[in-house]
Amino acid sequence: MIYLDSNATTQVHPRVLDAMMPFLTEAWHNPSSGYRAGREVKSAIEKARQQVAGLIGATPEEIVFTGCGTESNNMAIKSLAREIGRKHSKVVVSEIEHSAVLRPTDAMAAVGFDVERVGTDGEGRLRLDHLKAAVSGDRPGFLSLMWANNETGVIQPIAEATAIAKEAGWFVHTDAIQAVGKVPVRVDEVPVDFLSISGHKFHAPKGVGALFIRKGSPFEPMIRGGGQEAGRRSGTENVPYLVGLGEAAAIMQEEMQNGGLDRVGELRDRLQAGLCQRLNRVRCNTQPCFTTPNVAHLSFDGCVASEMLPKLDAAGVQCSAGSACMTGKSQPSHVQKAMGFSDERAYSSLRLSLSLFTSEEEIDRAIEIIAEMADG
Ligand code: PLP
Repeated sequence: MIYLDSNATTQVHPRVLDAMMPFLTEAWHNPSSGYRAGREVKSAIEKARQQVAGLIGATPEEIVFTGCGTESNNMAIKSLAREIGRKHSKVVVSEIEHSAVLRPTDAMAAVGFDVERVGTDGEGRLRLDHLKAAVSGDRPGFLSLMWANNETGVIQPIAEATAIAKEAGWFVHTDAIQAVGKVPVRVDEVPVDFLSISGHKFHAPKGVGALFIRKGSPFEPMIRGGGQEAGRRSGTENVPYLVGLGEAAAIMQEEMQNGGLDRVGELRDRLQAGLCQRLNRVRCNTQPCFTTPNVAHLSFDGCVASEMLPKLDAAGVQCSAGSACMTGKSQPSHVQKAMGFSDERAYSSLRLSLSLFTSEEEIDRAIEIIAEMADG
């Protein structure tokens, strides 16, 4: 099987598994226990915290471990909702956010918050002029803008958008789940208040994430209890998974430094170029310079992606039409609608997403299979 759906999830890196195993076998103690075995487990968590902080330029104290990216988003959004209050305040999100931002902000709108969605241009990047208009006025508010989009891989103008929101005195949350480990994401350069991370998008297991909370930014815990994570997210820690997340963060930092992600980008370009050479009905929906290096988003004129997918699966290529969460939904993707695509174009689009484990042979074979399918 050729796996080209890495934005849905990635395989656990063997080094991550090796790092996790001792904490599923001999080092199973409770990190809150005062005896040595407990303290050793606790120090493994603190090492993981440093590794995650190191990947994004944060301090370890600013990292709170969570159960997934969805939880991280909800934690940030609910906390900010409480901070700004529903009267005379405003919330702005982009039209292309993941449901893990759209649904919690929909829930805020349902109880009286003024929530505005700002659109994108044809390249899938937030309209900064519309953002400027949306944050104008003297109201308190927050912006939640993703760092990179899950369907298209398009990197958002996060630094500019954060500057606009900060200028208005607003708080900023970013869902960086599809950017972390793929492109440089630095909270020491972009002054967001909150940043969400999910492990399974970069070779850690599913069911572990983190939230960066800038020192001094307002935060109200969503889960209270025994006071773990400095009281910010209670519950006995999922030690093996936290260790795995830390190791994955260290690996991705190494890979970004030693050209591993550049290699992924070259393979993505090879895939796009190969398909464009073989087919004249293919359209590249995004520009590589605006996207994470691992995603190609393409339309195949005259084809219906939902019909292609099972055939591709049978022929040995696993990919998707949009996000994994959209699978089975009959409407065109809200992301492609925001980019101004016709329904026909949206229905004919495939998302092909690579990872560190994708090989050149797989890409060449995938070109053959997809081209044959789109031609047939
Ligand atoms: N945000 C984005 C942009 C995503 O791509 C995803 C996962 O697909 C999520 C949030 C949800 O993350 P998790 O699966 O860890 O809950």
